[in-house]
Amino acid sequence: MSIRPIFNSYPGLLSIYLHFPFCKNLCHYCDFYKEKFDFDAQNKFFHALHTETEMVLSAFETEPLNIASIYIGGGTPSMCDPALLEEWIHDINGYAAFLPGFEFTIEANPETLTEEFARRVFQAGINRLIIGSQSFSVSSLKLVGRKQRNKDIYQAFYNARLAGFENIGADLIFGLPGQTIKKLRTDIDRLTSLEPKHISFYQLTVEPGTLLEKNIESGAIVVPDDDACAEMYLLGSHLLHDKKYLRYEISNYALEGFESKHNSGYWNSTPYIGLGPAAHGFVNNQRYSNIADVDEYIRRIESGVLPIDFVEELSARDKLNEAILLSLRTTRGINKENLIREFGEPALSILESSSIAVYLNEGFLEVTDGYLKLTDRGFLVADKIISDLLS
Ligand code: SF4
Repeated sequence: MSIRPIFNSYPGLLSIYLHFPFCKNLCHYCDFYKEKFDFDAQNKFFHALHTETEMVLSAFETEPLNIASIYIGGGTPSMCDPALLEEWIHDINGYAAFLPGFEFTIEANPETLTEEFARRVFQAGINRLIIGSQSFSVSSLKLVGRKQRNKDIYQAFYNARLAGFENIGADLIFGLPGQTIKKLRTDIDRLTSLEPKHISFYQLTVEPGTLLEKNIESGAIVVPDDDACAEMYLLGSHLLHDKKYLRYEISNYALEGFESKHNSGYWNSTPYIGLGPAAHGFVNNQRYSNIADVDEYIRRIESGVLPIDFVEELSARDKLNEAILLSLRTTRGINKENLIREFGEPALSILESSSIAVYLNEGFLEVTDGYLKLTDRGFLVADKIISDLLS
């Protein structure tokens, strides 16, 4: 595939997502692309990544590139060899000018985050670290194939701080098998006592084709029902709010000033490039994704071809739908005036639709200072509301 159709002009500002495709252990609920970690495969991956990075960044024919944020996810990036990561960051530095307030995030699993790794990536310029803590209920985590001990979470925070990280975030999951309201309270108490700046609080989803789905279908595992999950979400939001973690998106909470800039970029349609297998990008009005197969990713790059597997040019209607979907998931909501100014009559017809009127009447949506937004009850059924509005 030619690179010109996507990277044909420099959009003036970019973010970068890197997908590190290896994990030590494969969790039963996960449908992200990943392979079991292997040193040799890691080396080959990084070798291909250098070439991909060079091919993509040089295609813009502009230097330096203004970079708003970088996010390294996976997979388990905290497993990678820090020397290989340092070399990749060096590649990026050769092209980039980092904007003030530049955010550079890496995800880490508690059991793999050593002090040495944290120190080296901090010194290489990474300034935000997300610890995949998920829960302190070891028995619930075990049922979904996650092998971590509570002391790993405490040690990971300790190692991160020792290395110099101040901007530390963490993940918290609800709806796990065996999880109760009481256990969720304990999770929130324990996690907030570690004082992360940011908490992603999200529901366990049963993705098609996962081992979790099979185990639920066979009756080997029972997860809390919808009502219990709704109760957990409302309680969790309330407890986090009490501890000064403000919800700014349906699953994201932060102390004031620590909202994720990278994720906010997705919601504001900041262009971003995706590197690594299965990574997604959005540049010059086109969404694309790389092939979700590390061997094929390497093979294509070695033969001088970008590993892009899917490209889609967004129509005006696609952009309107995305603007509604992404804005409505944020607590700020949709700026009605801006939406109508940008998209005209199709936006007006959605905003004046009978579906919106019904949801407003029933207290699932509200309008404040010109913003259409979900209420607390609305956040519980956000997917249904959004799909009704866009149908
Ligand atoms: S560690 Fe993360 S990416 Fe890896 S299998 Fe588990 S949930 Fe998926």
